[in-house]
Amino acid sequence: MDAEAKTCDVLIIGGGLAGASLACALEGSGLSIEIIEAFPLNTDAQPCYDDRTVALSYGSRVIFEAMGLWHAMADRIEPIKTIHISDRGHLGVTRLRHSDEGVEALGYVAENRVLGEVLYQRLAENQNVKLHCPAEVLSLQQADESVSVCYQENGKEFELTAGLLIVADGVSSKTRDMLQIGTSRQDYQQSAVITNITPGQPHQNVAYERFTDTGPLAFLPLTEHRCSVVWTVPTEQAVDLAALDDAAFLEKLQQRFGFRLGHLKKAGQRHVYPLALVESTQIVRGRVVIMGNAAHAIHPVAGQGFNLALRDIALLAELLVSNSSQTLDETLATYVEMREKDARRVYRFTDALVKIFSNDFSVLGHLRASALLATDLMPFVKHRLARQSMGLSGRLSKLGRGLAMEKPNV
Ligand SMILES: Cc1cc2nc3c(=O)[nH]c(=O)nc-3n(C[C@H](O)[C@H](O)[C@H](O)COP(=O)(O)OP(=O)(O)OC[C@H]3O[C@@H](n4cnc5c(N)ncnc54)[C@H](O)[C@@H]3O)c2cc1C
Repeated sequence: MDAEAKTCDVLIIGGGLAGASLACALEGSGLSIEIIEAFPLNTDAQPCYDDRTVALSYGSRVIFEAMGLWHAMADRIEPIKTIHISDRGHLGVTRLRHSDEGVEALGYVAENRVLGEVLYQRLAENQNVKLHCPAEVLSLQQADESVSVCYQENGKEFELTAGLLIVADGVSSKTRDMLQIGTSRQDYQQSAVITNITPGQPHQNVAYERFTDTGPLAFLPLTEHRCSVVWTVPTEQAVDLAALDDAAFLEKLQQRFGFRLGHLKKAGQRHVYPLALVESTQIVRGRVVIMGNAAHAIHPVAGQGFNLALRDIALLAELLVSNSSQTLDETLATYVEMREKDARRVYRFTDALVKIFSNDFSVLGHLRASALLATDLMPFVKHRLARQSMGLSGRLSKLGRGLAMEKPNV
């Protein structure tokens, strides 16, 4: 093998939203960071940074602000001022408003492309970060205090030994498989059809979450008077739905959503994602941390996946650079213990929403309608729901409280 041996402090496999955000969060730590990303950035082959969108919670805004990244994205993403939750065929409605929570917005809708540009612009300016892209991991070996990775780049093989390995190569993580870390999987038998549309009337920064007998349908306010649509349907219908021509697709969507935004005018490219709750059986093993979708991929009904990952990233970055007397193994054990509760809460919340709101059992339909109405009338319950959606409930990391980072510990 034509291998050149090198070392770094932190090696991140997968430069998607999670991997790139962690590398940015560690800026200023003095740690040497290398990223191995399989697909060239800014090409159609890249599975992450296209015109698909992600709803960022207010809590994620606070984290990006503390990382010094918010100003670069703020003008290019759309605020969510109101969340309107309804149940198709029933009367109950709940509305969460930014003014009730005393914040500028409950959340923000960002195109992945925009987040990618902001994250990679920052990484390009950081001399401690080295990107290998496109590159492929061939094998890895765990030792007590390091992990060695053999990878291929430009037809050549290299070996890199890192003090800490972050596995962030997505839900079907090959690296997690190489480490023989298993997953638990709950298949929802549903798929999400994703697209951006132009509505007939202005969205006025309202996010609509509409539960239907075939699954939830979300319209999220997007820049340029568009809405990002996440339409959850039984898997057997998804591919046919996505393959409809624009006019037929818009007609079906209009039937499901109604006319709250007038006549739907234009639909963009459609993408289909099968939905499941996939959870890694371990998120830390020795000097390996599993991160982002590789750690937990959840149903997008409440738009929590990346927000959860960003809270993981904020805490891990804080613990790695803190001046505590803990060894790295102890630090990683603390990380696992501190993040467990938030992840469980998000799984339970998301799973309950999917199960309660994705069926057509009529008694349950009436109960749902009553629950939505009751929630709308009870400020305390609404406030708790809003805090959960905004990613502000539970124990927050320093970045999560808007505080910048300190010095390294690796
Ligand atoms: C339909 C849908 C809607 C969603 N909406 C929201 C939302 O509104 N809000 C929210 O918070 N979350 C949402 N999510 C979740 C969010 O998309 C994920 O949490 C986020 O993309 C996870 O990022 P990641 O970096 O972990 O994984 P990925 O985005 O999958 O990135 C993995 C990266 O690893 C690279 N890679 C893959 N294999 C390898 C390899 N072998 N070696 C090296 N690199 C590799 C890939 O090229 C990619 O760059 C949604 C998800 C879906 C499916």
